[in-house]
Amino acid sequence: MILALETSCDETSAAVVIQGTVRSNVVASQIRVHSEYGGVVPELATREHLRNILPVVRSALDQAGVTLSQVSLVAATRGPGLPAALLAGYTTAQAVAYALNVPLLGIHHHEAHLYSPWIIGKPPRAAFEQFEPNISLIVSGGHTLLVHVTGGLRHRVLGSTLDDAAGECFDKVAKLLALPYPGGPVLDELAESGNAAAFDFPRSLLHESHDDFSFSGLKTSVRYFLLKRPELLEDSKSLRDICASVRAAIVDVLVRKTVRAARRMAVSCVTASGGVSCNRALRRQFAEECSRAGLRLHLADPVFCTDNAAMVGILAEQKWLAGEPPTPWDAETRPGWPLEEESTPLKAPAASSGSSKSGTY
Ligand code: ADP
Ligand code: MG
Repeated sequence: MILALETSCDETSAAVVIQGTVRSNVVASQIRVHSEYGGVVPELATREHLRNILPVVRSALDQAGVTLSQVSLVAATRGPGLPAALLAGYTTAQAVAYALNVPLLGIHHHEAHLYSPWIIGKPPRAAFEQFEPNISLIVSGGHTLLVHVTGGLRHRVLGSTLDDAAGECFDKVAKLLALPYPGGPVLDELAESGNAAAFDFPRSLLHESHDDFSFSGLKTSVRYFLLKRPELLEDSKSLRDICASVRAAIVDVLVRKTVRAARRMAVSCVTASGGVSCNRALRRQFAEECSRAGLRLHLADPVFCTDNAAMVGILAEQKWLAGEPPTPWDAETRPGWPLEEESTPLKAPAASSGSSKSGTY
């Protein structure tokens, strides 16, 4: 039985995973704490993690109907993320594992995102029997990554953002539009009743042959557009049209570059995860374009899009079964941990004690 913790940014989360099934996944969001400042304040995030981590762990164990003594492996996000926020969860995990005398696995946050689209159903379980090599888009507040997942636990980063992340762009544009924090979901909501063709915002690097992204130009173009036409902000229809047009510009680039990479790499599956993959236009456009291109699509369930410990526990179980050694006790957190480094083919997994098709994916 795995107890997993996640504190890389602004959500404190704990989950219990047993044999590929998520038995509980508790997330204490800090949105209210940071909204006053219009963005995540690292010191406040850390303070909140410290305040919430033990109650969140207790509640994850209670909801799963298990006790601490049943835990056989502890997993925690080791990086990347806010340095002090990572420490709050990781050192808690170290202490729990040490006290229980069970192994600890430090997990890469983005590697966990790569497999989150496979967590489906009720109760949620990792449907790795359906796994196939894919192109995976990770889109969050801090990162935009296009990854070729070549096999179970093996991947290669194809591209990333050269400046702002897609979620950061949503949030910064929302701020320019004087929308409340967190901007992404609010902008998405307003865009639903707007006209996406009303204004033409730039789609950076869409036609470049590489897989990198750039979103700071879009943010700047919205800023200059509003300086020229500030009256549009006073009109609710124009505001909704701007939201829809900006959203279309971001989503267009994300979806089209992902589908193009899938074709180029000759995979038949596309996945997406991270907070921005909750975006309704993104989900619709992915569905349309993947169906047109004959690609199977796995979008992370909205519950597992934003930061959560369930995906950390699911990946930890797979790694453990595939023979990953415990993370040494003196290993430190890695705030800038690159994803590429994590792609180490592990030995074939041992016959599992009932895990769902563990390691066969
Ligand atoms: P991080 O790990 O960087 O905190 P998360 O995976 O928690 O990122 O996702 C948070 C980001 O997702 C924020 O930038 C938020 O605005 C964005 N986001 C969440 N829902 C939506 C949505 N419906 N549309 C666009 N962006 C969204
Ligand atoms: Mg977050």
